Amino acid sequence: MKTRKLLSVVVPVYNEQEVITETYRRLKASLSNLDMDIEYIFINDGSTDNTYLKLNELIVNTDVKLINFSRNFGHQIAISAGMDYAKGDAVVVIDADLQDPPEIISEMIEKWKEGYEVVYGKRLHREGETLFKKLTAKLFYRVIDNITDIKLPVDVGDFRLIDKKVCDSMKSLPERARYVRGLVSWVGFNQTSIEYKREKRFAGKTKYPLRKMIKLATDGIISFSYRPLKLATFLGMTVSALSFIYLIAILLQKIFTNSTVEGWASTMVVSLFLNGVMLVVIGIMGEYVGRIYEEVKSRPLYVIGELINFDEGNNTNEY
Ligand code: UDP
Ligand code: MG
Repeated sequence: MKTRKLLSVVVPVYNEQEVITETYRRLKASLSNLDMDIEYIFINDGSTDNTYLKLNELIVNTDVKLINFSRNFGHQIAISAGMDYAKGDAVVVIDADLQDPPEIISEMIEKWKEGYEVVYGKRLHREGETLFKKLTAKLFYRVIDNITDIKLPVDVGDFRLIDKKVCDSMKSLPERARYVRGLVSWVGFNQTSIEYKREKRFAGKTKYPLRKMIKLATDGIISFSYRPLKLATFLGMTVSALSFIYLIAILLQKIFTNSTVEGWASTMVVSLFLNGVMLVVIGIMGEYVGRIYEEVKSRPLYVIGELINFDEGNNTNEY
């Protein structure tokens, strides 16, 4: 008899007390017809509200597993932890807030059965998000696709299905600055997409304030591109060339005319501009140096406070 395949559903959760019970219900309802065993892996990313209590109500269900982080490590790290512990033949990553409709998962499974190893959800519309969020997201996906060396599909978030093979190769990537969707593109394999409409949040507010959005964006760009460093070099060279021309002009003026130059305004302009450029360049280099430092320290990606409903011997956290 053919053994049934296992599907792991990975759900990162941060302060989603209003949503999480409904998320589990919707997931279960929409996956009930699947001819597969299912494990739901919730990662509680250091929630400070009642999310933990809500999740503890869910763990009476044997298909629910819970990874409880010791503090908030961030969405991308939570997803990575879920992938580390997922046992499934296929792994689906989905947000807890029901913006990504669980009903799409069975379509992803169909594609997976056709032989695709990565099936990502492509957002056609986004509902109930601020204009600012939509615009910055649109811009970000296009910029990052342009300046990175790997192919990153636009308007694609972390809602996706990956095969066990892909999941295993993801686990072998040790880097700390985790931009999961970039890493999935990087490992390759047969990829395809399913288009869907991004709903508005079921309840609660976004857990991605501007600060976290900027971190995600810089992690994504800097982990996958040297272009900013090249830009720094380019800026440096352009400004040097301009300064050189100006220097010649000043010398010629000094030699061939006797107009006394007052000089304060131009000196200020030049020095402010040059200092600005230098700070930008140093800042860009600092971003890379800081990340090198993070990698060199080799700290674990996350610290687990508690593992619930996982089999014995699964409690490793090797990084
Ligand atoms: N999330 C997380 N850790 C964080 C921030 C968010 O695990 O530090 C989870 C959150 O609970 C949700 C998913 O990541 O399941 C996406 O977050 P959110 O819906 O707030 O982002 P948005 O859809 O607004 O970009
Ligand atoms: Mg959301």
